[in-house]
Amino acid sequence: MRSICVMNQKGGVGKTTTSVNLAAGLAKLGRRVCLIDLDPQGHASLHMGVDAFGQTPTVYDVFSGKRSLADVKQLAVDNMWVVPSDLDLAATEVELVDAPGREMILRGAIERLCQQQPFDYIVMDCPPSLGVLTINALTAAKEVFIPLQPHFLALQGLSKLFETTALVKRRLNRDLVVSGIVLCLYETSTRLAADITDDLMRFLEHSDPKAPWKNARIFESRIRRNIKLAEAPSFGQSIFDYAAKSPGALDYGALVAEVVAGEVAIAPPITPVSDAA
Ligand code: ADP
Ligand code: MG
Repeated sequence: MRSICVMNQKGGVGKTTTSVNLAAGLAKLGRRVCLIDLDPQGHASLHMGVDAFGQTPTVYDVFSGKRSLADVKQLAVDNMWVVPSDLDLAATEVELVDAPGREMILRGAIERLCQQQPFDYIVMDCPPSLGVLTINALTAAKEVFIPLQPHFLALQGLSKLFETTALVKRRLNRDLVVSGIVLCLYETSTRLAADITDDLMRFLEHSDPKAPWKNARIFESRIRRNIKLAEAPSFGQSIFDYAAKSPGALDYGALVAEVVAGEVAIAPPITPVSDAA
């Protein structure tokens, strides 16, 4: 199983759009996916048409110890479950302030979920902060994907983000790696996007070999700005159901293909059939 935390403490960079469409694209390829919405704004839930108003149990109930992820998850489309969130989750930051082991709650909950039902992917959509919810996601995940909008302040804040992954790796989750950077809202017509990509590559090359981001790749698939991606959430659909032929669907389809190609590298080695026979 791969568990991917989609994080960036900046808002509006494409975290939710990437989480939802990555998860939905993987599900279309037959992978069993659970998308966990960790943003109190609940945008990922709404994007998949999962309404978390009223009495619907949410991920807040998991953090407060009242329910399991298995109880809370909802089937959104074939092969794809969503664990919804709502504004109640905002209280978690405060409520857990003194709780021992507060960083490990989600990790434990995911382990129990996977004992009941196997998934190929867990995708976590983080809020725009480096608070306890994001730390929980980083502690539960094996991989981090960072959506980045290549504009002139794109790299500002990135070192803080990277430091946080290093801290979590050191203290809470030895397995954590930053595996990919997704360039979102990409403007093909500007030189700026290309310059920022170059800067980023140089930064990665010159990083400490032990840093969790050392082997991060910038995904080849660039997610262009496409109005269909902004419209799809209002229809409660992923881009693949809302506008399957749009540039947005093509770009996220390409990203999903790259992610799936990475499965080979992480699959357990297949014992070769004896050559001698
Ligand atoms: P975050 O989760 O990081 O805050 P979102 O994924 O919610 O960012 O994106 C911010 C806004 O930009 C949303 O309204 C979303 O629909 C829109 N958006 C995201 N990616 C694209 C894109 N490639 N093209 C057009 N609009 C986009
Ligand atoms: Mg978001």
